[in-house]
Parts: sequence; C-alpha cells; structure tokens
Amino acid sequence: MAKVTCLRCGNEKEGLDEAPFRNELGKRILEHTCNDCWDEWMGQQLMFMNEYRLDPLNDEHSKYLDEEMVKFLNLK
Ligand SMILES: [Zn+2]
Repeated sequence: MAKVTCLRCGNEKEGLDEAPFRNELGKRILEHTCNDCWDEWMGQQLMFMNEYRLDPLNDEHSKYLDEEMVKFLNLK
C-alpha cells in the first residue's frame, strides 16, 4: 500500500488501495487522503445521510455529499 501525505490530518500515512470513484475527484482522494481519514469520512457521510435523509442516487444529494467530502478531506 502506498503512503500518501494526507491533506486532512497532514500525516504521511497509508492511502487507499484504489480510487473510490472513477473520476478526477477519486484520483485526488487516492493521492491525498489517508485510509484513516477516509474511514472517518465514511462515518461522517453516513451521519449526514441519516440526518438529512440523503439518497446517494439522487444527483442533487450526491453533489452535496461530494462538496461536503471535499471540505472534510481538505481536497481544495
Ligand atoms: Zn489523514
């Protein structure tokens, strides 16, 4: 597993095995997010989805989740 310098926690840690999405954002996550922070986001996302009753298959909801993810993982 490759080490990445994570933009969220600032540590050099193990990254993901593969990009979580097949797009530019997925590539950025693969290169700039550690495994632990990704797990944290997964938990956070579940909380958001329950709290706001979000459906990841809904385009608007999925766009909102992407924006929150970028903020959470400090990808910008
Ligand atoms: Zn991290």
